[in-house]
Amino acid sequence: MLAFREKIVKCGCCGKDIGEIVFDKSYKMPDEIWNLSKTEKEERAQIDSDLCRLDDRYFIRGVAYLPVNGTDNSYGWGIWAEVSQEDFFDYVENYEEDNSTKPKFFGLVANVIPSYENTIGLELTVQLGSETQRPEFYFTDPMHLLTKEQAEGISIEKVHSFSSNKS
Ligand SMILES: [Zn+2]
Repeated sequence: MLAFREKIVKCGCCGKDIGEIVFDKSYKMPDEIWNLSKTEKEERAQIDSDLCRLDDRYFIRGVAYLPVNGTDNSYGWGIWAEVSQEDFFDYVENYEEDNSTKPKFFGLVANVIPSYENTIGLELTVQLGSETQRPEFYFTDPMHLLTKEQAEGISIEKVHSFSSNKS
């Protein structure tokens, strides 16, 4: 008989099983749009689940994954990035296609990410995915904690702290 090799990973802060801990958080829209009044939203913004426009600025939704050390999982921040008009419309036009071989392009974080400082305007690159994948975001500022953690990983305890935040 084959050995059952599933690894049980528990949180060091509370002993919760890894399966009970939330591994992602998503934002419905960029913070700047979220914070507008209803009237302003209607007048100035166009809001879709993966694409937003505010005046002449353009935003796409993607995921920034942080690997979780000691597990096969990653934590996914489902955030928005401001991108150039050109990259935005290129994405829109090819939305139904496999874009995973397209070159990366530049973006700026458009959400406050709790537990981290100064995330609005943080630089990243966007890697588009296949038809069924959301774009992936890679932080590029060498001085920012998120860039370090995306490269080196985070602890399961830190993942648990994300969902304990009242923000
Ligand atoms: Zn815990």
